Amino acid sequence: MTIVDTPERRQLRELTRAFVTREVLPYLDGWERAGEVPRSLHETAAKLGLLGIGFPESVGGSGGNLLDSIIVTEEIIRSGGSSGLIAALFTHGIALPHLVASGNDDLIDRYVRPTLAGTMLGALAITEPDGGSDVAGIRTCARRDGDHYVVNGSKTYITSGVRADFVTTAVCADFPGSGELALLVIEKGAPGFTVGRRLEKLGWHCSDTAELSFVDVRVPVANRIGPEDTGFITIMQHFATERLSLATQAYATAQRCVELAIRWCRDRSTFGRPLAGRQLIRHRLAEMHTRAEAARAYVHEVAARVAAGEPVVTEVAMAKNVAVAACDHVVDAALQLHGGFGYLRDAEVERHYRDARILGIGGGTTEIMNEIIAKGMGL
Ligand SMILES: Cc1cc2nc3c(=O)[nH]c(=O)nc-3n(C[C@H](O)[C@H](O)[C@H](O)COP(=O)(O)OP(=O)(O)OC[C@H]3O[C@@H](n4cnc5c(N)ncnc54)[C@H](O)[C@@H]3O)c2cc1C
Repeated sequence: MTIVDTPERRQLRELTRAFVTREVLPYLDGWERAGEVPRSLHETAAKLGLLGIGFPESVGGSGGNLLDSIIVTEEIIRSGGSSGLIAALFTHGIALPHLVASGNDDLIDRYVRPTLAGTMLGALAITEPDGGSDVAGIRTCARRDGDHYVVNGSKTYITSGVRADFVTTAVCADFPGSGELALLVIEKGAPGFTVGRRLEKLGWHCSDTAELSFVDVRVPVANRIGPEDTGFITIMQHFATERLSLATQAYATAQRCVELAIRWCRDRSTFGRPLAGRQLIRHRLAEMHTRAEAARAYVHEVAARVAAGEPVVTEVAMAKNVAVAACDHVVDAALQLHGGFGYLRDAEVERHYRDARILGIGGGTTEIMNEIIAKGMGL
C-alpha cells in the first residue's frame, strides 16, 4: 500500500507550491521574528481550499483524506516552508477532528465551519505543567453546575494558544487525576480563561505557543464533545493522524535538507574542487537521501493503512520514530555540510535544524512511542 499520485493530487501539489511561493516565502522570515503567522494567511489558505483538505465538504471542508493532507504537508516543506509554518497554519488539524467525529451539528456550525473558512482559529489543549505524556493523569477539572461546567486548571505548550479563538480542552470529568476525561470547547473571552504567557522556543518561531489558565471558567454543557467519559478514547483515536502528520513533517524536512545540502555541495568549492566531487561527501549525501526515502516509504505505507481503516497503532508509533530518527540524522548532517554558513540565520537549513527538534517530543515522545511499540510486540 502507498499513496497513489493521481492527477488530482498532482494538481494539489501545484496549488500548494504556488501558495507557498506567493503567500509564504516573501514573509516567512518576518513571521519567524514576529512569533506568529497573520490571521489573513488562514483566510487565504481557506479560499484556495488548502485549509479544508482532509475534512468532508459536509462540514465546510474541501474533501480528501489523510493522504491528501500528507501531500499538502510534503509540498509546503519541499517548496521552502517549514514544519513550524505547518504547526501554526494547520493547528485545526488537531483542534477539529474530535468535533467533526462527534457529528454534533451545533458544534460543527459554531466552530468547525468558521475555522475551515479561515475566520476562526482553534487549538488543542491536552498537556499540563505536571506532565504531558500521561494523558490519564490530567488534573484540569470540570465540575457540573446545572447547564454549565466550572473549569479549573492550567495547560501548557499549546500551539496557537495565543491566537486561538477557542480551545478543544481535555478535562477531568470527575475528580483531578481520575482518568475520566471529557473534551470541552472553551472560548477565548470566557471570564476566568486567560493566556498566561507566550512561550519562547528553540524552533517553530512562527508558531505561537501558550500557557493557558482556567479559574472558575463557566462552559456550557452544550460545548462538550461527545459523551462525558469518552474523552480519553477520543483523544487516543485522533493521535494517529497527529502522529502521522508529525512523521510527514519529519521525512519532508529531511528530504528538503538533502536537496539543500546537494545544492550547497555542488556550488561550494574547497581546495580547488566542489564538495560534491569528493567521495566522502557523495556517500554522506547518499546515506542522507536513503534514510529520508526509507522513512517516506514507510510513513506512506502506514498512512495508507490508516486511511483504509486498519487499526495500526503500533505501526503509527514506529512510523513516527523512523521518520524522526531520519530527520534528526539528516538535519544535523545537512547543517554540517553547510559549514559555518549552516549556523547562520540566513541559511534555510538552520531553521530546519531548530524546528526538527520538537518532532520527537510533540504528539507523544519517542520514548512513549517505544512504549506503544513494546506493548504491540507483547512485551
Ligand atoms: C512547541 C510545542 C508545541 C506543543 N503543542 C501542543 C499542543 O498544541 N497541545 C498539547 O496538548 N500539547 C502540546 N505540546 C506538548 C507536547 O505534546 C508534550 O511536551 C509531550 O507530549 C511531552 O510531554 P511533557 O513535555 O510533559 O514531558 P514529560 O511527560 O514530562 O516527559 C519528560 C521526558 O520523560 C520521558 N518519559 C515520560 N514518561 C516516560 C515513561 N513512562 N517511560 C520512559 N520515558 C518517559 C519522555 O519521553 C520525555 O523524554 C507541545 C510541546 C511543544 C514543545
